[in-house]
Amino acid sequence: MVRKFDQDKLVVASHNAGKVREISELLLPFGVEVLSSGELKLTEPVEDGNTFIANAEIKSISAAAESGLISLADDSGLVVPALGGAPGVHSARYAYNPWKEERDFGYAMGKLNLELGDKDRSAHFVCALSLAWPDGHVETFEGKVYGTLTWPVRGRNGFGYDPMFIADGHQETFGEMEPYAKHAISHRAEAFKKLINACFKA
Ligand code: IMP
Repeated sequence: MVRKFDQDKLVVASHNAGKVREISELLLPFGVEVLSSGELKLTEPVEDGNTFIANAEIKSISAAAESGLISLADDSGLVVPALGGAPGVHSARYAYNPWKEERDFGYAMGKLNLELGDKDRSAHFVCALSLAWPDGHVETFEGKVYGTLTWPVRGRNGFGYDPMFIADGHQETFGEMEPYAKHAISHRAEAFKKLINACFKA
């Protein structure tokens, strides 16, 4: 049986202000007060899982145990089957540019394009969302969006690998799409729909 969210407060297990804001907006209709693990000064656990689900659960379980409140965490990334699933759970780290000593997605997309050469350019984004209770119970959901990686990259909207990704059935990259259009079909939107339907609706 899926466990329902039945509190008036929730911790978003992220120190990323943008992610906390986006999740707060999505939970607005449910009248939930959102606190972040950053403002509660919770420890950031090591994300050493091999899957998006494992990493989302590491973060949600750690925040729930430490705060005593139901906690929500997400983990996401880009999977390229022709590269053995890379960058996958290492999508953020893959973008580290050693010359600039910072994350640089122009560099990451160029590197991906070189590694791909004439290999199959199919790719998908994955998002895992995990809701954990202080007693250790977890409910985890996954969303995916399938597409191909194009070159040269196009568009300035979105973030990360968006300018290189064209979702199946579309012509524009995620970087060219209006945010509402991306949000209607994205991996994150699908995972959220599953979470809301299972845990936030009567
Ligand atoms: P996380 O914060 O550990 O989940 O990092 C996920 C990484 O995957 C981000 O830094 C991006 O590189 C990439 N990523 C996840 N979702 C998206 C998306 O919707 N568009 C583009 N890149 C994404």
